[in-house]
Amino acid sequence: MFDSINEMQIPIPHDENGMVGRECPNSECLGFFKIKLGTGILEEGYNQCFCPYCGYKSTQEHFLTQEQLNYAKSIAIRETQNALEKEFRKWDRQLRSGTRNSFIKLSVEYKKNHQPIAYYAEPELETHLTCENCGLVYAVYGKFAYCPNCGADNTLQILKANLELVRKMIAQIKSQEDPEFREYLIHTALGNVVSAFDSFGKNTVTLFTKHTEKSEIRISFQNIIKAGEKIQKEFGLDIYDGLGDEKWQQIVVNFQKRHLISHNDAIVDEVYLTITSDRNSILGRAVIVSIEDIEDMLDSIEYIAKKLQSGLVDWKVKIK
Ligand SMILES: [Zn+2]
Ligand SMILES: [Zn+2]
Repeated sequence: MFDSINEMQIPIPHDENGMVGRECPNSECLGFFKIKLGTGILEEGYNQCFCPYCGYKSTQEHFLTQEQLNYAKSIAIRETQNALEKEFRKWDRQLRSGTRNSFIKLSVEYKKNHQPIAYYAEPELETHLTCENCGLVYAVYGKFAYCPNCGADNTLQILKANLELVRKMIAQIKSQEDPEFREYLIHTALGNVVSAFDSFGKNTVTLFTKHTEKSEIRISFQNIIKAGEKIQKEFGLDIYDGLGDEKWQQIVVNFQKRHLISHNDAIVDEVYLTITSDRNSILGRAVIVSIEDIEDMLDSIEYIAKKLQSGLVDWKVKIK
């Protein structure tokens, strides 16, 4: 009876740049991002989608946003109603003509409810990127680590984009007058630098050691001193070489400050003072992070990242 509604293809509207929103189905993440249709892997039948934030992998239809689902549902209900209305009209015609000459006249009418279409607008996002591996054009907000189409970690490209976000954040912090909120944003920005560098480091090491005898190596880059020592031991690389003492010291201090903020309510402890020899901080008092501290560190982070990447390229050539 309702052949027309057995299967319904509902195109999801895109924004003026041809981008459509996606939402990670992982309930612990629910991250929002956008992809540009017609870019990325265009192989017939390829339907994979990766969450750029948590790496959750599934097929495209699992990444519909709640708004898109509501929209599709509203279209489906409207189409179903139209199909029903058509069938009822047909039935009505049959009844009327069949009972035209009979004593009892029959007719039927279908009254449909008005089904409004749940139109929606998708939020504007901060970082626009093209995957160096598959060519997907996509947009993300906040820290991320994977291409939503091929799942590649374009590590250096992603690190740079994440540091750029921190620069944008710093620009906003400068105009922030509420001191408490300002402090909160500075701490967040510092945390973002450290975790962006940590995921860069981890992903880079995983990428280069894949299918080698060092494929099991796991290095945390949150502890920048230990990470350097381990890189030196495993790959014979000095990733801080050429950075200069002052810049190196600044990174050590900032990373240790981040550690205090995350694990010690931002209160200066003995371990911090021993590691950093920071004369501006007082035992038992709250640690102070300045915007300039973070700003100055960004280029050094990129320097170390490049050093790690090129060092591992050489290492890979050598072991072949
Ligand atoms: Zn996710
Ligand atoms: Zn890709």
